[in-house]
Amino acid sequence: MTDHNDLDPATISAQGGGTIVPDIGMATTYARGADYALLDPANMYARDHSDITRQCERVLARLEQADAALLFPSGMAAIAAVFRTLPAGSSIVVQSGIYWGTTAWLRDFCARRAMHLHEVDTADPAQLETSIATYKPQITFIETPSNPWLKSTDIARAAMLAHDAGGLLAVDSTAATPVLSQPLTLGADIVMHSATKAINGHSDVLAGVLATNAPDAPIWQAIATDRHDAGAVINPFAAWLLLRGMRTLPLRVHRMSQSALTIASHVADHPKIDAVYYPGLPDHAGHAIAARQMQGGFGGLMSVLVTGDGADALRVAGRLQLFARATSLGGVESLVEHRFTIEPHTGIPPNLLRLSIGIEDAGDLIADLEQALD
Ligand SMILES: *Cc1c(COP(=O)(O)O)cnc(C)c1O
Repeated sequence: MTDHNDLDPATISAQGGGTIVPDIGMATTYARGADYALLDPANMYARDHSDITRQCERVLARLEQADAALLFPSGMAAIAAVFRTLPAGSSIVVQSGIYWGTTAWLRDFCARRAMHLHEVDTADPAQLETSIATYKPQITFIETPSNPWLKSTDIARAAMLAHDAGGLLAVDSTAATPVLSQPLTLGADIVMHSATKAINGHSDVLAGVLATNAPDAPIWQAIATDRHDAGAVINPFAAWLLLRGMRTLPLRVHRMSQSALTIASHVADHPKIDAVYYPGLPDHAGHAIAARQMQGGFGGLMSVLVTGDGADALRVAGRLQLFARATSLGGVESLVEHRFTIEPHTGIPPNLLRLSIGIEDAGDLIADLEQALD
């Protein structure tokens, strides 16, 4: 079923899997003939699969250079699907300081399953190596670039260490998108995205995706079976919207990356900004790794520390005219998030603002930041 190819992502995305405009296919059940054979052998019941979901998954697999992809109703459903395959008592290494929803769910899940969860700063090569060698995790889960700190973990190195210890590497590549990074080609076993973010890009679809180059591996079979049996399937309309959003994925991601680099470089020297976290900046701690494992840009996500305290950061957020004040990232519109307001007990500094750069004019966005910081 492999359709790896040498087509550019822009071509794969624009063509959306072959049809100019596919049908949504809202049917939940499919007819049989007088002989009781399915009229369309591929479709029996919508929890098993649907044409639009398959088409969307094929495009995602090709973009990811994967043999197979599975869609889920959200990014968290995709993450949960990976870890639900593990037996009680398993050992897991997860990167610390990542998307809070992942950490919170894993802590709760591992406590209930008597699993050993080890939260490690995998962006630190020494900690990555020691923790995997010590804990011998069934799954090592990293997020690169990470959210909101934009740390870079060396995917190839993490894959090698995870395999040496007899386990698998799963990578949350949401901030990179399949346009900028293909973790499977670097040795990862499973790549995950919250397709809610840049893959859809229009802030109107909740979706998650997993992709692999080992569709016959027991873990992938278990994930596929569990998705079907437990029913974590995407709605056909969501898959249709996602396929539509992805038509412009490379265009959007390149534009957002270019603008983000311009903006990060600009505000880096601003007297009212203490620090900028963006992997595209040469002095960012993870720049060298990011440059090695991302091509064509560093994504649209960055965080800044506003000079002063939480009130100063909130004042800046409140004065922004073009950046909408909202959580999430990767949409065509720029967003600003004051993480501390939403998650005050997770170690986020009160003066941190996370910016998701959209596809607006970079000059307009810089002018907006300038007036808000003044
Ligand atoms: C948003 C996000 C998720 C969770 O995805 P949902 O679609 O909101 O369930 C996971 N990881 C990262 C990095 C995210 O940004």
